[in-house]
Amino acid sequence: ERANNNLLYLNDVNVSFDGFKALRGLSLVIAEGEMRAIIGPNGAGKTTMMDVITGKTKPDTGDVYFGGDIDLTRRDEADIASLGIGRKFQKPTVFESHTVWDNLQLALSGKRSVFAALFHNTDAREQARIDEILETTRLGHLRNRLAGGLSHGQKQWLEIGMLLAQDPKLLLVDEPVAGMTDEETVQTATLLRRIAETRSVVVVEHDMTFVRDLGVKVTVLHEGSVLAEGSLDHVSADQKVIDVYLGR
Ligand code: ADP
Repeated sequence: ERANNNLLYLNDVNVSFDGFKALRGLSLVIAEGEMRAIIGPNGAGKTTMMDVITGKTKPDTGDVYFGGDIDLTRRDEADIASLGIGRKFQKPTVFESHTVWDNLQLALSGKRSVFAALFHNTDAREQARIDEILETTRLGHLRNRLAGGLSHGQKQWLEIGMLLAQDPKLLLVDEPVAGMTDEETVQTATLLRRIAETRSVVVVEHDMTFVRDLGVKVTVLHEGSVLAEGSLDHVSADQKVIDVYLGR
């Protein structure tokens, strides 16, 4: 199972909350450089799965391996983040009273306070890195704007840029297009595909138009385990998936 190009490997993971099984025997493999979409009805275990990968929730049983043989179940959240796992939550959290550029500088510096980050001298390498992220996120023309004045979509892209500053090997993204316009949704798919050229991405999303646009392999979760896996066309033709989405 654990081939060399597997970046993330969840093996038979079980998580219970007060006897309720949120994850039951969940197994999942994400390859190096792969983007995967995770779908499934409410309560399927998508958030719990993300929490297990980032170490926020520990499995009762089962294993989580990263980069081949690093056992994440034995590490804490900060340690897991520093190994190269970045997580984007649904709501954007940017420093609204600072510019786009300062937000990226802050993320890049890894400083704990805005004050410390802004008074830290940005060297040429850091400036080049910020320019590169501005290019990836297409936010270059907004570099001197206050983050608080950006559109909802632009804030989401800025926060994704802030995560890129940490240079994660794996980026976990939770419902990125919720609340976005159709045009922002299309641009977000393009952005994530661009990011996935150099790292792995796991996207949890309900918007099927967006998932179709991503054009990646889909994993359908249901009752804490994998119900179906494959292209969106493949899983959406699966009778088990149809029954679950129609509530049968
Ligand atoms: P999804 O993200 O797919 O909607 P979740 O992972 O949030 O699913 O939840 C899976 C199940 O586990 C749900 O039934 C939810 O109520 C339950 N659950 C999740 N977190 C907790 C918790 N901290 N305490 C109790 N139950 C929880």
